[in-house]
Amino acid sequence: MENVFVEKFADIKILKYEVPGFDKFSLQKKLYIYYLSRAALCGRDILWDQNNRYNLRVRAVLEQIYKTFAGNRACQDFERFVVFLKRVWFSNGIHHHYSTEKIEPGFSPDYFQTLVWQSDWNGFPLPDNAERERLFREISTILFSSEKEMKRVCLDPDKDVIRSSANNFYRGLTQLEAEAYYAALKKEAGENPVSFGLNSRLEKNDGKIVEKVWKSGGLYGAAIDQIIFWLEKASEYAETEYQKQVIEKLVAYYRTGDLRLFDEYCIDWVKELDGEVDFINGFIEVYGDALGIKATWESIVNFKDHEASHRADVLSQNAWWFEQNSPVGDRFKKEDVRGVSARVIHVAILGGDCYPATPIGINLPNSEWIREIHGSKSVTIENITYSYFLDSLGNGMLEEFAFSEEEKARAREFGYLAGNLHTDLHECLGHGSGRMMDGITSEHLKNYYSTIEEARADLFALYYMMDEKLLDLGLLPSPDAALAEYDAYLRNGLITQLTRIEPGKDLEESHMRNRQLICRWAYEHGKADGVVDFVSRDEKTYVRINDYQQLRNLFGQLLAEVQRIKSEGDFEAAQALVESYGVRVDLPLHNEILARFKKLDIAPYAGFINPEYELICDESGNPVDVRISYTDDYAGQMLKYSREYGFLPLIND
Ligand code: ZN
Repeated sequence: MENVFVEKFADIKILKYEVPGFDKFSLQKKLYIYYLSRAALCGRDILWDQNNRYNLRVRAVLEQIYKTFAGNRACQDFERFVVFLKRVWFSNGIHHHYSTEKIEPGFSPDYFQTLVWQSDWNGFPLPDNAERERLFREISTILFSSEKEMKRVCLDPDKDVIRSSANNFYRGLTQLEAEAYYAALKKEAGENPVSFGLNSRLEKNDGKIVEKVWKSGGLYGAAIDQIIFWLEKASEYAETEYQKQVIEKLVAYYRTGDLRLFDEYCIDWVKELDGEVDFINGFIEVYGDALGIKATWESIVNFKDHEASHRADVLSQNAWWFEQNSPVGDRFKKEDVRGVSARVIHVAILGGDCYPATPIGINLPNSEWIREIHGSKSVTIENITYSYFLDSLGNGMLEEFAFSEEEKARAREFGYLAGNLHTDLHECLGHGSGRMMDGITSEHLKNYYSTIEEARADLFALYYMMDEKLLDLGLLPSPDAALAEYDAYLRNGLITQLTRIEPGKDLEESHMRNRQLICRWAYEHGKADGVVDFVSRDEKTYVRINDYQQLRNLFGQLLAEVQRIKSEGDFEAAQALVESYGVRVDLPLHNEILARFKKLDIAPYAGFINPEYELICDESGNPVDVRISYTDDYAGQMLKYSREYGFLPLIND
């Protein structure tokens, strides 16, 4: 696949990814992947509803208009409507996937009325006219109001982050009530607690607080039953008996919602290393909740890439060395680093919160005590990063924002490899390193935890990027590759990532905050020695690194401090660090960068369209093959998913 670009709209580009070698897999392996992929698509509605209680209704109405509107489809207003729908699809709801701000429709409430009137509502899931009218009014209010449902995740420390967030995890409670509720549960739990609240909506009804659990027979039960169905189907084609057991555990958890079973499943899953095919399917990441308690639903099905996995294996085998030699305080080091399993994978399907925008590396499980006792699994997603790389060649970013020809040449030669190695270090070693002091959990850092944790993993990677050990291990082809990574990291953290932020806005997202935090901190602390410069040339600002070795030392110092903050749960220090360096944007610089970026006409965000899988059966209905194809039809895929995987009612209260 040479051309991975599919289409561009608003601030988004859609790419596709290749699934290398799929055609050559055994039938069993193909079927295993196929059925797991079906399970991966079944939770899409769950995520939509989690993101906002109106999302499923909005989607159904917009899609019906898209399919049946009989008015002028060539006018600018309709084009804007289509862009809006594409953005809503991309974000799995009405809030921008990254900024989490409500997306502006770009057309008027009157035009929305026109769209509704000139569309055909036969076959729409709400047959009653009056009910449908009410629905249209409700949706119009939600879409066009400048007060309602404004932000999916509000992290503003001066606000009640529960009340100010438009996600659908809490109803009728204040932040203090929610925090108190889970604090009480944790207090009683003792050692190795489950991840309280991970798989439920918390509600206060008539003064009583209740958890509505996401499980078969519970909230989202209709979608969860479908997930169970396809998981059990997949289980028949598992590569090993052990994989079957792992699936059984997951199914038992989905049936009961029992978080102890989820922990058991996670432990079994971490130990499952023999198979080639692996998958994630469940309520996993908590970035969508300002309190970091509730998990959004996601799924990925993947298989191992042998050659590239060697890189990650070598790191894992040397995990102890890296832990011992890291610049953090000895009491914060793990005495025995085990179970850091790492592999390089190719994804076969992206689902839920991994679609269309997807991570490029994953490190799970998230439960702190499971990680400490049983280790974690870590993956780098090679076919996705390779798609990004193919797309980035020649989009003009490097030419515009890199300071010197030398820097550009280094980036072209080593950028792909160095970036992957950074991700490996971040995922395989960074997140898994270090230990918590007794009684300290991630909750001590509250809304700063995610940023601090990502900073820790990035700093670990940056610190070791320039270590001779990587050359000794044969992982770095040349010291210049490390320099290329430092160039790229600072260029991104200080300059290019600002292209994703609207003028006047601050940084909100954890990964972006962490990158700026690291770069700004290093810049400020190296200022006296001129370690890093902002250079102006032809009225354009560039970042120049003058002393790579000194910069590495600064990364080491900050790593030590960030590890201390995490290990001791030092909330004040976390807050000070993040608020001082990671949040505020330098306005004049930001304006300049946005202007330069605009000229390049590149979308700052990317996501991926999935391949399509088709089950081929013989006359008696036995599967004989699975065919893969690569579609370029973004809207078609979204409509297909809504049609075939729309398991939840529009009004899901
Ligand atoms: Zn990370």
